[in-house]
Amino acid sequence: MVCQHDNVIWFINMGPNGEKQYFMLAMMQKLLGELPESFTMGFFYDVICTMHHEMECWQLLLKCLPWLKFATLVFHAYGHQWPCQLSYHPYKNLEFGCTDGEGCEREWNLLNGIIPTC
Ligand SMILES: [Zn+2]
Repeated sequence: MVCQHDNVIWFINMGPNGEKQYFMLAMMQKLLGELPESFTMGFFYDVICTMHHEMECWQLLLKCLPWLKFATLVFHAYGHQWPCQLSYHPYKNLEFGCTDGEGCEREWNLLNGIIPTC
């Protein structure tokens, strides 16, 4: 998880099955536990449209939902249906400014040399 300025907040071990939604939910829950209530925060995730829908359906982090903003990473946005792009494309949402949400991808690229040994 990285901040808006691509500084690492947490690393997690995603295990052998790779990237799963519950890792994102766990990190969100951990971060929200560290911040004051009603702290407005934006989250980027590849399939945030699905996750946002599931958070509402399953009432996950329900008390925080009014203060959370969601967007897809800019390069993933075009892989979504048009209604998803309208709701979650970061450049169609003024609250995200020029942030592209690709910070984790950039961090991952920087760490590329040590991945085989880890
Ligand atoms: Zn979508």
